[in-house]
Amino acid sequence: MINILFAADPHRWGEYQIPLTKALTDRGLDCAVHLSLSPEEVDYIVYDPSGSLSDFTPYTRCRAVMSLWAGVEKILENITLSLPLTRMVDQGLTRGMVEWVVGHTLRHHLGIDRHVLGQDGVWRDTAAPLAADRSVTVLGMGALGRACAEALADLGFPVNGWNRSRKQIAGVKMHCGATGLTKALSGAQIVVSLLPLTEQTRNLIDATCIASLPKGAVLINPGRGALVDENALIEALDSGHLGHATLDVFEREPLPPEHPFWAHSKITVTPHIASASRPESASIVIAANVWRSQTGRPLLYLVDRESGY
Ligand code: NAP
Repeated sequence: MINILFAADPHRWGEYQIPLTKALTDRGLDCAVHLSLSPEEVDYIVYDPSGSLSDFTPYTRCRAVMSLWAGVEKILENITLSLPLTRMVDQGLTRGMVEWVVGHTLRHHLGIDRHVLGQDGVWRDTAAPLAADRSVTVLGMGALGRACAEALADLGFPVNGWNRSRKQIAGVKMHCGATGLTKALSGAQIVVSLLPLTEQTRNLIDATCIASLPKGAVLINPGRGALVDENALIEALDSGHLGHATLDVFEREPLPPEHPFWAHSKITVTPHIASASRPESASIVIAANVWRSQTGRPLLYLVDRESGY
């Protein structure tokens, strides 16, 4: 019998119980999933930062910790964790992110606010340009960034991508490194940030980076709040250099009610809902990794501690 500890917010167990049990059974695994268990009996931990587990030291038999989240910067701060850690790459999470990014890109591209908010008797009859005339840049071409870039390219946007390693992605002009970043940003009317938060990416979107964008550009950030220098962002919006920022993630979450982002007329705040792991598809990934570990295969989506993602 393989013992799995479900160490996430207990209310999530209601969503995962049926799909996770099914996914493990479909893999032919003889598993019991527990909400609590003596640490020395645990073989795998399914982890979510909203759970209460903070000390991994007593889990001496555990073979891997499997995060339900794609972003792992919080758990990597935990010095008691030396076990292999996997992050979540889930079809449902990816589809949700594509829908959110495409939706918010189209909002700005089409100028939807002008008509939704401007029901004031003024006949504004200028049609929006086509996607082909609006350049979009995606920062971070991982599981989520790549899928978003491909969807935007399919809609006809000229898409530039910036990434640590060079990748070939159909319909996307790729850039790497510091000079590549300036090139990727210099013509971008809309920028989507889907980088992980690491030592290298913290505050990456600073005053210099923002200055390389054309006047009126829009920033869409569903990556992590600390990728963006908040003061530089507000200054650029106030000066008119940036046209708008749509932010889903923040240095402090929930974003405190007194935070200036809430009241800023050029900022849209969404409460870290761009996407989420979906129990059906995420359970299949967890079961696949338990099966891989039990059969001596390498784990999928193993976090590289050196890189921080
Ligand atoms: P991922 O597959 O690990 O992709 C990260 C990408 O960023 C990789 O392509 C990586 O390049 C690139 N990268 C990392 N460091 C870089 C650097 N210093 N310079 C340039 N490129 C760099 O991650 P993911 O699954 O796409 O998720 C991305 C992030 O989205 C997560 O870390 C999380 O913060 C955020 N997220 C947000 C939500 C939400 O609801 N708002 C939901 C899920 C995830 P390589 O290809 O060279 O490794």
